[in-house]
Amino acid sequence: MPIIDLRSDTVTLPTPGMREAMQAAELGDDVYGEDPSVTRLETYLADKLGFAAGLFVPTGTMSNLLGLMAHCQRGDEYIVGQQAHTYKYEGGGAAVLGSIQPQPIEGEADGSLDLAKVAAAIKMDDFHFARTRLLALENTMQGKVLPLDYLAAAREFTHKHGLSLHLDGARLYNASVKLGVDPLQITRHFDSVSVCLSKGLGAPVGSVLCGSDELICKARRLRKMVGGGMRQAGLLAAAGLYALEHQVERLAQDHANAQALGEGLRALGYSVEPVQTNMVYAQVGEQANSLKSFLAERGVKLTAAPRLRMVTHLDVSADDIKHVLKGFADFKQS
Ligand SMILES: *Cc1c(COP(=O)(O)O)cnc(C)c1O
Repeated sequence: MPIIDLRSDTVTLPTPGMREAMQAAELGDDVYGEDPSVTRLETYLADKLGFAAGLFVPTGTMSNLLGLMAHCQRGDEYIVGQQAHTYKYEGGGAAVLGSIQPQPIEGEADGSLDLAKVAAAIKMDDFHFARTRLLALENTMQGKVLPLDYLAAAREFTHKHGLSLHLDGARLYNASVKLGVDPLQITRHFDSVSVCLSKGLGAPVGSVLCGSDELICKARRLRKMVGGGMRQAGLLAAAGLYALEHQVERLAQDHANAQALGEGLRALGYSVEPVQTNMVYAQVGEQANSLKSFLAERGVKLTAAPRLRMVTHLDVSADDIKHVLKGFADFKQS
């Protein structure tokens, strides 16, 4: 039975074209700066996103960590959403490894952080307080795309308050495809951006941190410190480059599939949050566990959560969505 895995867009397997690109990759020792494929990926992405430099790292968690640590010193503070990945899902790394104090604030329904609330959280220059240094945003945020005019406002706001602005752009390309804009229109507002290659883009491993030469130079030192200096990493970078060159436009298909899934579930009577990109959130309440096992028997992998997140990706087709909806319909009847 073919498996349809809706738990995350991290589960994608490399496509045949991607495997060929990996096979053909020119390699070297990247800790010596001698892996041409890694260098090509870093330069390619930095160029496209409007930054001076890029740094290839194994995970988005490391990419965000290095970004935060390159911007902030010990005893500095960053302002971040209560539900943001860098705050909630990265093991508290910024605090543990960077001695950076997070100041979380409640996010808004559209995925943004209210700049008035951010302003109220900024601490004045006083030895009682941590030094507020950075604002971190996430885009897409739980599948929601931050409006471009909000990003412009956040940029102006951070300039005014002397803060740096970091983007956890794990799903930057879902946002740019959804808006129909060049990703540069998003990234131009930020001092640093972390992009995941291993989500909807379909690479097996890897993220890239982009920023100024100075920031990336610091991040490179930190990467070595946390054990992220990889040797013949071009094998992985080649997969990332392939993803960026061949698997960006197709994200629109994931978005269409997510729409269809959302509409189908609504037709079955589920309360479904508005779908913008590749994530569908449905309220399944106490049925979460029974639903998970019922659909598992039909080849559909779900997480068990009352607010159920389903994610579409490279390995989920429009027909798969029909199969999933049939499973939900049968569950309703059971
Ligand atoms: C997946 C993800 C990351 C990084 O996760 P890794 O598993 O460490 O690559 C960072 N931010 C967001 C929003 C993510 O979804």
